[in-house]
Amino acid sequence: MGCCKCEEYLWRIVPPINNAHSISNGGAGHTSEFQYCVFHAPLAFDKGINGRKINVTEFNSLFFATVRQEHSNGEDPVCIFEGVVFPGEIDFSKAYPEKRLPHLCLQNSVFNGKATFRGLTIQGITFSGSVFVEGADFTDTTFEDHPDFLDVIFKKRTIFSRSKFTRGGLFNSADFRDLAWFSECTFGGHVIFHSTKSNDNALRMHNLTRDSLSNLIFSSLETSYFSFKGCYNWPIKFGFENTETTNLKSLEELYRSMKQKASSEHDQPQVSRWHYREKLMAMKRGGSGIFEAVVLYFYWATSGFGERAVRAGVCLLTLLLLPFIANSPIGHAIRSMWYYLPDFPSAAGFFKDLSESISASAALEYIPFTKDIKGEGWAKVGQALWQGIVMLQFTLFALAVRNRFRR
Ligand SMILES: [Zn+2]
Repeated sequence: MGCCKCEEYLWRIVPPINNAHSISNGGAGHTSEFQYCVFHAPLAFDKGINGRKINVTEFNSLFFATVRQEHSNGEDPVCIFEGVVFPGEIDFSKAYPEKRLPHLCLQNSVFNGKATFRGLTIQGITFSGSVFVEGADFTDTTFEDHPDFLDVIFKKRTIFSRSKFTRGGLFNSADFRDLAWFSECTFGGHVIFHSTKSNDNALRMHNLTRDSLSNLIFSSLETSYFSFKGCYNWPIKFGFENTETTNLKSLEELYRSMKQKASSEHDQPQVSRWHYREKLMAMKRGGSGIFEAVVLYFYWATSGFGERAVRAGVCLLTLLLLPFIANSPIGHAIRSMWYYLPDFPSAAGFFKDLSESISASAALEYIPFTKDIKGEGWAKVGQALWQGIVMLQFTLFALAVRNRFRR
């Protein structure tokens, strides 16, 4: 009878059987025996071979020798060692002085001591479903292919500082129970943190470059877990806005959560950035109805959602200049062209009727700032409307200037 886990995980090699090799399980009438090899024996069993107990160093040597043997076979580029129970501290960096670790699959494993991969260049690695009980050190590690940390539990502090994720990485549903440092990491492809669990500000994405930030993918549900100290150069499009399957509503929620996070940290420039992106997504998806869509469009076009002072200023200047142009020789020339239109007489009659609408002038008496306007009829209404628009644009300009310089 072989190791039950070797059978479950379909191991190709047959490792030595562990000392305390069988247990009974079940009550009256039900006895089933489990036997483990030295690699799969749970920590409750003393690790040992041929009746002799082995220590952590001996276990690690046996493990690395077995992995090297598998790699040397070269039949399959991926070396699969699923479900290994590491009894204590293990240092892959020392075991590979050439600093190059070929493809290795260690999914569903348990690292009961600290695991070190510092400075290694790893061709490809899978840890999905594994547990790091005493912390993991991936400082200065280069991942040539995207490492797989799906559903991994990191019980203690984890360090990925200055690591290079050349083609990205997967941390979906990973559970970080202590701090995880990603300072100065390089994300060369999408590094995905969907459905991760962590404490607030525990995932330290500090001093990341613009390119790395653009590859960081998570949703509004995970925003509070991240800390972004020293990240000054942000990409224009963030998160999954760059991916093909973009959902504008989810993006709006992501940007809103980033805005709320920045606001709670009194980081006003970031509040401005995320407010603009949030409203832009709302505008792109058409708001909550036609009215909101139109308002959002004009809010964007005239002041960049109250965040673009130059745009608001240019719009204001244009509004102020247009009356000068209309009353200049150019304006008169354009107006005189009306007289050459074929059906001018009927049009002229129509405009004459409009301009003689005295009731419009009377109605304007009720609007405070229109009393001093000199015109009559609908011309007066047009002037009042224009003044209203100029005042509105001036307010937007003042708001944008305030947002730009007070933040
Ligand atoms: Zn086994």
